[in-house]
Amino acid sequence: MNEFALIETYFNWSGSNLVNLGIGDDCAIIDIDANYQLVTSVDTLIEGVHFPINTSASDIAYKSLAVNLSDLAAMGARAKYFTLALTLPDINKKWLSQFSASLKSLADEFDIVLVGGDTTKGALSITINVTGVVEKNKALLRSSAQVGDLIFVSNTIGDAAYAWKQLQDKKTPSEYVINQFNRPKPQLFLGQKLSGIANACIDISDGLEQDLIHILTRSSVGASINLNDIPLGNEVKVYIKKTNDWCLILAGGDDYELCFTVPVKNMDLLKALQNKNNVTVTQIGVINNSMALTKIGSFDKQCCSYQHF
Ligand SMILES: [Mg+2]
Repeated sequence: MNEFALIETYFNWSGSNLVNLGIGDDCAIIDIDANYQLVTSVDTLIEGVHFPINTSASDIAYKSLAVNLSDLAAMGARAKYFTLALTLPDINKKWLSQFSASLKSLADEFDIVLVGGDTTKGALSITINVTGVVEKNKALLRSSAQVGDLIFVSNTIGDAAYAWKQLQDKKTPSEYVINQFNRPKPQLFLGQKLSGIANACIDISDGLEQDLIHILTRSSVGASINLNDIPLGNEVKVYIKKTNDWCLILAGGDDYELCFTVPVKNMDLLKALQNKNNVTVTQIGVINNSMALTKIGSFDKQCCSYQHF
């Protein structure tokens, strides 16, 4: 099977009328509405680095797109289009059908269209570039946190890092935590709803501490967070009680939850959002003018968040 047949067989899904020319020409041509801005982001996942060797094709496809969608969520954007650069050691039809089916299923769930890509031979790696849209000047930024804002995170923190730790310790993670690791749910709905409520927002990919510090640095503010307020899943709670290993929570990463700051005057809007929709957000701290991050709790060591190099 050559490259063209591979694309035709596995990735030429039906497009949408947003795309004038999708797969099959030199470039995709995309119409955009007036009064909107494009937001775009790219992420590469490499076997053995971002997912363990022997991860299923469908989990790899899911995570590759989900982590990119998470970046759109952090901006409060709506997902629109993506491109895929796939490097494969060989052409395995079973692997490709599973990869393609899983990718399409997640793409359909979030209404994002595959508009182009590239395939090459080599060690397994997946690069996805996502593009979304946001109303002009309405994107959620890292740089807009204000002194007095309350700091929130969505859902629970640390489940994926706990699954990864168990894999490294040659233990079998529970279905729940391995699912949080392989199939993080992109918080696009929450991100869009936070536009107009939150001042600043980021998605937690490298670790809560480091990602929150990105907001603090870009906004020229400080913060204090209370470790005991960080929402944890049941298994992680038990693990922390036993080990006091808060580095797993603060620096484990791979959560793909949102960390955002809300001015007190918008708390009614946030409460209404929680009551009307099925979203879980928890306050973990407050933005202050200290220009540093203070962690209140029984553990205060500087954790090492994920380093890319
Ligand atoms: Mg991000």
